[in-house]
Amino acid sequence: MRLRLDPIACEGHGLCADLLPEHVTLDEWGYPLLDADVPEHLATHARGAVSACPTLALRLQRTRSTFAARPERLG
Ligand code: SF4
Repeated sequence: MRLRLDPIACEGHGLCADLLPEHVTLDEWGYPLLDADVPEHLATHARGAVSACPTLALRLQRTRSTFAARPERLG
């Protein structure tokens, strides 16, 4: 999964960095710096950070590896 930020919508509340410190740090003005590739075991935390963003500036995007991790259908 990949974290995406809309820098226009972000108001620098910093909540995302509190909820997902493994992948979000804040710059000197309080705006997020993303380590965007989120491993599957942190997906729940990442979804929580996305849901908590008061300006809807964060979103999660599935990546090719996310799809590859799913079992294939046979037949
Ligand atoms: S919680 Fe949302 S508005 Fe606040 S810093 Fe993070 S992305 Fe920006």
